[in-house]
Amino acid sequence: MAERILQGLPAAPGLAVGRARLAHARVESRARVPEPRRPLEVQRARAALSAAGAELEALATRLDAGGRGDEAEIVRTGVLMAEDPGLIADVEHAVLDGLPAPAALEAACARHADAIATLGDPTLAARADDVRSLGRRAIRLAAPHAAGDEPPPGVDTVLVADELGPADVAELGPDVVAIALAAGGPTAHAAVVARGLGLPMAVGLGPELLTAPAHEPVVVDGGSGVGVLTPGATRVEAAAAAQRERRAEHEQALLDRDLPAVTRDGHRVRVLVNAATRAELDAGLAAGAEGVGLMRTELAFLAAAQWPREADHRAAMAPVLSALGGRTATVRVFDFGADKTPPFLAGTAERGLELLLAHPDALDAQLRATLDLGRECDLRILLPMVESAEQVRAVQAAVARALAAVPGAPAPALGAMIETPAAVAAAAQIAAAADFLSIGTNDLAHAVLGSDRFGGGGAAPAHHPRVLAAMAATARAAAGARVILEVCGEAASEPASVPLLVGIGADELSVGAARVGAVRGWIRSLRRDEASRAAAAALDTVSEADAAVLGEALLLEGRDAAGERVERNGRILAVGPEA
Ligand code: PEP
Ligand code: MG
Repeated sequence: MAERILQGLPAAPGLAVGRARLAHARVESRARVPEPRRPLEVQRARAALSAAGAELEALATRLDAGGRGDEAEIVRTGVLMAEDPGLIADVEHAVLDGLPAPAALEAACARHADAIATLGDPTLAARADDVRSLGRRAIRLAAPHAAGDEPPPGVDTVLVADELGPADVAELGPDVVAIALAAGGPTAHAAVVARGLGLPMAVGLGPELLTAPAHEPVVVDGGSGVGVLTPGATRVEAAAAAQRERRAEHEQALLDRDLPAVTRDGHRVRVLVNAATRAELDAGLAAGAEGVGLMRTELAFLAAAQWPREADHRAAMAPVLSALGGRTATVRVFDFGADKTPPFLAGTAERGLELLLAHPDALDAQLRATLDLGRECDLRILLPMVESAEQVRAVQAAVARALAAVPGAPAPALGAMIETPAAVAAAAQIAAAADFLSIGTNDLAHAVLGSDRFGGGGAAPAHHPRVLAAMAATARAAAGARVILEVCGEAASEPASVPLLVGIGADELSVGAARVGAVRGWIRSLRRDEASRAAAAALDTVSEADAAVLGEALLLEGRDAAGERVERNGRILAVGPEA
């Protein structure tokens, strides 16, 4: 059979193959059910709703047992919704009007979700997603072909769905090797979780995806946003090989989790995890992360209808902060704006800290919740898109206000992100006002190279000599003020950049959970003195390609010592140690 290649959008990189598992049974038919059969159909719909509630209760119990009580509580709201008399009555009416059970569940849950979403409350907006998610679960259970639709345990599967929520991705079992969505967006929450977990994901593949025959192979190329139905043998083998490599890397990371991230000449670099969800945190800690280096708090509120209140912050942050114990928790205050603009901020031109400082009540609410929840952690507050030392001082005043309102909470360290050329120019003053600096390489690289991060402006490599010069200037400012320098953009986990970042003096690298093990291994394979020389040489190059060679060469040289595999843009540069 010919391959069916579906072009969508890349959401999480990586190539994988697995048997199709349809996450939610589709609503196959809306044909009217003959009247005499409707009472039976009502029973089917009610049974599916209550079975969906039972599934969620079982999930909540598992989460409780795993010490994830806060998430269990969230899941249990779905259990309560499944028992909501209003929802049950709505489903029954829809069936008695003639809809088959799956279509009735879909219609009733959509109606309830829409009604909740229009109330304009951010907490309730999240509940609207929960009702939709409950509906999808119930539809799967009501569908006549549901039984036996899943590949047997132990078989690699590709989760095929129309859309998924972040919780759906976070609860996936080990058999799921990739995700393919007919709809969905690359910046959606679910994509963020998938990236953190190292699960390849392609989105926007179109309705044809949902015709994928259950149990048949599907290839997902999350880097290029392609899904392939009925893939040919060569394509399947390439994807299987990529998957084996990722698995080996993951297993190695778990084995090496207790090895220190210290260079061969004895220089320690802290590796932290970028985590907005508990699943990312767990995966990062399992691979040896020393804490959270970047918690993007805004991701939990991208659908919000108003500035979140203190209670909303608590609900969103508790699953991560409560699991950190005394480890570092770097909570970034809201970085709304650009591609992270919730409906209530539509049309706003400001971004990051500037926007937040224009809404002091919103900042105060976030700070109070963070200080209270972060009491047990080594809490650091991070400020996005800082442009001046005055802004840092304005937040210091807000932190003092919040501390007065949260008795007994220790004062947190305050860090400033350096993400724009203006911030680089003011880095010395910013460093003097802050307790640490953190380079946001994603924004900084685009700004320095003049490409549009959000408008398909193409790649902006952070190892480009001009970006490197901006980062080196930031490192000098941090050293001059004797404050820690963290790097938390994507470059902190790219093989061409990591040696150069260590070379310019980064003390901490904060990376996606799936890259924690690899980055720790790379640090063990480096010598700091060689990295410094390579960084100095890279600053003198004129092209990103020359700078990349200098960075990667160090990892290649160090591979025998560390037994690491070095990969760039999907191309294997080295698989060590050599026999
Ligand atoms: C960055 O810009 O590198 C960064 C970490 O912030 P974000 O990706 O959330 O904009
Ligand atoms: Mg940024």
